[in-house]
Amino acid sequence: MSASRLNFRLEGVAAGSSARAATFCTMHNEVRTPLFMPVGTQATVKAQLTRTLEEAGSQIVLANTYHLLLRPGAEVFRRLGGIHKFMSWNRSVLTDSGGFQIFSLPHLRAMSEEGAVFQSYLDGRTILLSPEVSVETQKAIGSDIMMALDHCIASTADEISAREAMQITHRWAARSLAARGDSPQAMFAIVQGALFKELRRESAASLTEMPFDGYAIGGLAVGEGKEAREEMCEFTAALLPNDKPRYLMGVGTPLDILEAVHRGVDMFDCIIPTQVAQRGAAFTSRGYLQLRRGVYKFSDEPLDPECSCPTCSRYCRAYLHHLTKTGETLGWQLLGKHNIHFYHQLMRDIRESILADRFLELYREKREFLHRVDEEYPVRLQKAKKKKATQRGAYEIHIAREGFASIRHIASGEIMHSRTDPMEEARRLYVEQAQLAQRLHKPAERLVIWDVGLGAAANAMAAIRCYQEQAAKGSLRPLHIISFENDLDSLKLALHRTDLFTYLRQSGPAAIVAAGEWQSKEHPGLSWQLIPGDVLQRMRGAPEPPDLIFYDMFSSKTCSDQWTLATFEQLFAGCAGRAVELFTYTCSTAARVALLAAGFYVARGRNAGEKEETTIALTPQARRRRANDELDLLSDAWLGKWHRSGAKFPGEVHPDDHSSFERLILAHEQFSPAAGPH
Ligand SMILES: [Zn+2]
Repeated sequence: MSASRLNFRLEGVAAGSSARAATFCTMHNEVRTPLFMPVGTQATVKAQLTRTLEEAGSQIVLANTYHLLLRPGAEVFRRLGGIHKFMSWNRSVLTDSGGFQIFSLPHLRAMSEEGAVFQSYLDGRTILLSPEVSVETQKAIGSDIMMALDHCIASTADEISAREAMQITHRWAARSLAARGDSPQAMFAIVQGALFKELRRESAASLTEMPFDGYAIGGLAVGEGKEAREEMCEFTAALLPNDKPRYLMGVGTPLDILEAVHRGVDMFDCIIPTQVAQRGAAFTSRGYLQLRRGVYKFSDEPLDPECSCPTCSRYCRAYLHHLTKTGETLGWQLLGKHNIHFYHQLMRDIRESILADRFLELYREKREFLHRVDEEYPVRLQKAKKKKATQRGAYEIHIAREGFASIRHIASGEIMHSRTDPMEEARRLYVEQAQLAQRLHKPAERLVIWDVGLGAAANAMAAIRCYQEQAAKGSLRPLHIISFENDLDSLKLALHRTDLFTYLRQSGPAAIVAAGEWQSKEHPGLSWQLIPGDVLQRMRGAPEPPDLIFYDMFSSKTCSDQWTLATFEQLFAGCAGRAVELFTYTCSTAARVALLAAGFYVARGRNAGEKEETTIALTPQARRRRANDELDLLSDAWLGKWHRSGAKFPGEVHPDDHSSFERLILAHEQFSPAAGPH
């Protein structure tokens, strides 16, 4: 009876995405995916009635084996006939195994093949949590879906520890299945392997050989960055069978969930909706609102005018502000009710869009607003305002909800590195993709980077940091960075706020602003110069051709002439017949076709920030040099998409020249001669 316990039916997969919609049946109800499961650690979703959960559309709630084992204890569930009756909940319950608590709670005494020995935080008793004990407890609780006990470790663990933990997880998975016996309860296994793809592959292979009813991606959201998590989630989801549910444990914000659905995950749980409610905050169609803020004191509007939940239909923001300020439990309850409704509504919208095959559209639209903070009453740096600069020239400082600072172009609203820490994005998109560390160790003449669009110097500083790190490991070839920028205000602004832009706390950036050049005292081979003025014109007179180009201009919305065919032709000419690789954050068809027309080979780059993919361009010489590398060159299939695209020709190409432009692209060596319109 392996797969039949849930009778999983895949109903749709979105085009251009891994997002799926499915239905499965537990012992209590039919479940529609993708879905969010509110967390009811102690057999209660904090401050919520089960009736409220039903009305909001909760299909499964999550309960916690570890906590329920300690209190009230398995015997209570046995005598009272299980958790559904106990908490008056007629829909499904998923119990997690306790693996995460073994990892996260400070009472662990010993870990062995047998299980984890820990001390009860209630009465000091010593308790063994083994796969068998976990399953017996979950049987007594009577959950619809049990989780096999896993050995969770920090996602940033080294490979040896990650491998050991993974292997224990596999042996425990087999023991958990055996302990389940012929119970009708479904059981999921948890794929481990930290951030090592090889281990994830191995873990998925071992566990999918066993007859589990579904698979969870475990060991994420425990210390790694958002991008690492998304990359590993995508990688792991693709290793799991199509005909079983996939569950990403402990994730996340609405945006995190949207991203993971896009990567092929069906089920989620997270404490965030009730936890932020307790702290006075709500997710709304107007952004993320903190109700404690004084701006709501006199607001008679509903919390979210677009929401149909009981909180929004009955209470105004002023009242919620008051409840939050006075610490009243009702505020927590009302905001929690709304947040859970918001999550479920998001999941329903996602499901509908998958079934109607317009998920990508919804994904783009939702992704735009889900990371916004309070649009009507924007949060300003109120305290800092008087003393510290927040604006300069065309730019202002933007603080992301995640807490990092970046620079916003005021007129267009465009933000440099809006979604990830600027240094993290610079490292991922430019430094790592350019294989800068490896290149620096190659004995050769000096390496030149053209940093086109200095901005607040995140990319240049990421390259400098890479040099400094690598210099500790051995001797390096010299590195010279040439930054092009016509407006230094964004860097000057950031330099006023090194409390926020901590990566600028070095001598280089100030020297670049003051003198236009910098030579590292510590590393004689490391130097940096600024070429001020119009980027296009100045590239022509650059002192040296590049080996690498970091192309990070504002998008074509804000500065249209930096993304034209003429610009890329000029860049190509600037490469002077050398092997040059260019990296840029955009993945727009218009930019890619202009790069192709200019003579570059064009490949897909890894995802970074809010971009699903980025772009790498190579001169023919660079393409030959990397002939043996796995480059994801745009293929004939991309060419077909280009043919159907609305932005087929760069704006500057006259309609009379469209057909010759088309021939030029079709004749590009990157594509096979037979490719063309179908
Ligand atoms: Zn609401």
